[in-house]
Amino acid sequence: MKKQVTLIPGDGIGPEVVESAKIVVDALNIGIEWEYAEAGQAAVEKYGEPVPETTIQSIKKNKIALKGPLTNLVGAGFPSPNVMLRKKLDLYANIRHARYFQGVRSFYPEVDLIIVRENIEDTYGGVEQKVGEDAAVALKFITRKGTERVVRKAFEYAFALGRRKLTVSVKANILKLTDGLFLKTAREIAKEYPEIEFDETIIDALCMKLVQKPEEYDVIVMPNVYGDLIADLAAGLVGGLGLGPGSNYGDEIAVFESVHGSAPKYAGLDKVNPTAMILSSALMLRHLHFKEAAENVENAVGEVIRENRTVTYDLGGSATTSEMAKAIIKKLK
Ligand code: NAD
Repeated sequence: MKKQVTLIPGDGIGPEVVESAKIVVDALNIGIEWEYAEAGQAAVEKYGEPVPETTIQSIKKNKIALKGPLTNLVGAGFPSPNVMLRKKLDLYANIRHARYFQGVRSFYPEVDLIIVRENIEDTYGGVEQKVGEDAAVALKFITRKGTERVVRKAFEYAFALGRRKLTVSVKANILKLTDGLFLKTAREIAKEYPEIEFDETIIDALCMKLVQKPEEYDVIVMPNVYGDLIADLAAGLVGGLGLGPGSNYGDEIAVFESVHGSAPKYAGLDKVNPTAMILSSALMLRHLHFKEAAENVENAVGEVIRENRTVTYDLGGSATTSEMAKAIIKKLK
């Protein structure tokens, strides 16, 4: 059976890591066909905007995309292309995995965390205002609808993967109205999922506990900005940004991407770790019900990292991006 997927190479190191993921998926020979689309700097040059309508239409048609990181063109007069994409496609849940792979230098060999982040609201709305010359305010939006759907997605995701516990993390003791609404709504939704343990940790305490005892956590759901920060923290626990896969979900559309950004200083050097994007493609395969293929990719990645022979600089090796991707392909069953 053929399945068409929108493929967005993205900016900076995007084209290199996306190509790595593509050749791994192609090697599985399971009928994935790619429809190339542009976003980010390449799209600005060609279409005069970072997220052109043709790209949106391609994703809406295929309902699924694998996307490279997009550079935020600060000062170019455009909003963040990632934020634009999330809003245009109503991708309200961002899900990022942080899992330890044997062979990686890390103090935390038992970490296997999933961070679920509301993807549209909070201060990411970008509603800011100057107050006189020397002050400014930003508005934090939290809605019941936005919270309900991301918390429900977190529970459904946890359930589908057989996870045991879901933690909600906010700072409702201070932000009583906004974070308070998120917490209250999460408590209500939790009643619909009695088979999953539900608990609450204040966001500052969560930072400390994740560094001390990350194995006590499983799936964590939170508003947009906290999730942004905690997902990078979680990536750091297991060896860095080069290893973290992620996804963005709407009701019908899913866009898969690495946790890391476009790392412009490494662009074109064939140097960075392709793992995060390759693992993102495995998440995509699982979403498309290619469960065995997804496990095949994850096991191949795990083997290459464990052997520690053909790994990139961030894992202590000297392999190039493409060499590591080819080593992973050789390990596919
Ligand atoms: P970044 O994630 O691009 O890079 C930070 C550092 O992490 C790099 O300098 C590098 O040392 C390391 N790193 C990142 N990816 C790696 C990999 N695959 N292998 C090995 N090391 C890796 O973060 P940044 O420099 O803050 O952001 C650069 C641009 O990317 C910005 O414009 C930012 O807005 C954008 N960004 C995009 C996304 C996205 O598209 N989803 C996510 C984050 C940042």
